[in-house]
Amino acid sequence: MEDIPEYATQEDFDALNAILEDANKIKAEADERRRRLNIDDESQCPNEDKHTVLPKGYVQRHRWARSMQSTHKQTKCPACGLWAIWVPKKGE
Ligand SMILES: [Zn+2]
Repeated sequence: MEDIPEYATQEDFDALNAILEDANKIKAEADERRRRLNIDDESQCPNEDKHTVLPKGYVQRHRWARSMQSTHKQTKCPACGLWAIWVPKKGE
């Protein structure tokens, strides 16, 4: 397993900022969908046990997401509309 330093590089922050911009758009979509479905918060998702569990920690989560992106893609949870489920990419 790769030894992950505790500090973040400028590259980490740049990539993280890009991800956060996307995340804000995705969150707005998910909020809208939850409003339509009458789900007040994520913890009420009936499908929550299918959500992918993310590592704790800001930098750790970002690094995890970046390495996951090469083998997995995010999909929307059909119940709550959050992009909370990672599935393996096929045919790549
Ligand atoms: Zn869900």
